[in-house]
Amino acid sequence: MKTLIGFDFVKHFEKEVPLWLAEDGDPVGLHVGDLSKTIKKIMVTLDVRPEVVQEAIEKNIDFILAHHPPIYSPIARLDLANPQIKMYADLMKNDITVYAAHTNLDNANGGMNDWLADQLGLNDVEIMDVSKTICLKRLAVYVPETHAEVVRQAITSAGAGKITDNYKDCSYTLEGIGRFTPVNEADPTIGEVGKPEKVMEEKIEVILEEEKLTTILEAMYQAHPYEEPVFETYSVDQKQAETFGLGRVGNLEKEMNLKDFAKHVKKSFKVDGLRVIAPQNDLNKKIRRVALCGGDAGKYYPKAIQKEADVYITGDVYYHTAHDMQAAGLVVVDPGHHIEKVCIPKLREMLTEWKKELSWDVEIIPSTVNTNPFIFDNQL
Ligand SMILES: [Zn+2]
Repeated sequence: MKTLIGFDFVKHFEKEVPLWLAEDGDPVGLHVGDLSKTIKKIMVTLDVRPEVVQEAIEKNIDFILAHHPPIYSPIARLDLANPQIKMYADLMKNDITVYAAHTNLDNANGGMNDWLADQLGLNDVEIMDVSKTICLKRLAVYVPETHAEVVRQAITSAGAGKITDNYKDCSYTLEGIGRFTPVNEADPTIGEVGKPEKVMEEKIEVILEEEKLTTILEAMYQAHPYEEPVFETYSVDQKQAETFGLGRVGNLEKEMNLKDFAKHVKKSFKVDGLRVIAPQNDLNKKIRRVALCGGDAGKYYPKAIQKEADVYITGDVYYHTAHDMQAAGLVVVDPGHHIEKVCIPKLREMLTEWKKELSWDVEIIPSTVNTNPFIFDNQL
């Protein structure tokens, strides 16, 4: 079993759910605490509320992984009479670190919106609004034969040579002769100043994701024996490694009418109630193609129309936005924001797999506090 340090956990987490996937201005990442400390108990939660913090204190938690960022607006005063401020103080007093994965988790492939699509049983799921694309590049680096393996390993360990999720360490090698004459202030690894040199070299070619180029070049520089390594990078046109974005669109196994679909949504997300926006109040409208976006994503409804969805599912729909949706002829089902609670078992599953894979000495605990602020009248 290996001791888990906050930094190492975050590094691993951000490989799967990178911060650059977050929407602009979204305060994702570390919110409270210190990443240099050992983590013994992680709690996963949708929201960080005072009740959740009390639960964390009782359960001796030292790291909270939350979906919703607890600090959303700037803090002007540290007045402990304010329950939100008191909550931050409790976290600090009890040495609890808080880290939030918000829209980066929504946009991640295999993240929040995919979990919601799964829960509804959608097929042929695609991204509703593609907003980010990883482009591929090709790197060619020239290395003396003696160091080819070391450099190959360094760049592939840094993430080069990955083709889809199914192939890693992919590279291509050509052998040849490298020629150079060190001059002036040169301090060559091979050869002498003023003397033409000839070295058996390998040209190693790999494909890589553009975002990883800097890291991979750093790894290459560290492993390469030459004072001035020679390399080239090329753009790889019309080939995109992976796309990311908000919301998902998919198809139901069987077409159903809106009334039955609403019941299906209620059951799938285990909610006590929901709101339906039906143009002409027609509950018989046939539903097959479903667009969804977790959280409060009413403003993205035109994307659902563009994707020819029969219905759009999102939470917190505003009165006037509902009028606009209705006027545009779009059927909308609003099961509330709290359907994102699916992240609790899903994050727990994800972390438990990493714990096994990497032998982390850590306990992963789901929060059991109900953070839904709404109660439906059928529960009264
Ligand atoms: Zn949310």
